[in-house]
Amino acid sequence: MPPGRFGLCDRCAHQRLVRTSRSVFSMCGRHADGDRRYPKYPPVPVGRCVGFQERTAPD
Ligand code: SF4
Repeated sequence: MPPGRFGLCDRCAHQRLVRTSRSVFSMCGRHADGDRRYPKYPPVPVGRCVGFQERTAPD
């Protein structure tokens, strides 16, 4: 998978990558934690997001 495919989410602390045998999906952890203002699978690449939080540690 090319780096940066999911846009802003690729640098966000809330991104959760869901891997299947055939593909990788970018899930929003804010949704998974119960915040329904954010879609579970945002349309990518994400360009702007008010919930973005820079990731500080490598995943
Ligand atoms: S909070 Fe926004 S930038 Fe972060 S993973 Fe969710 S949709 Fe992507």
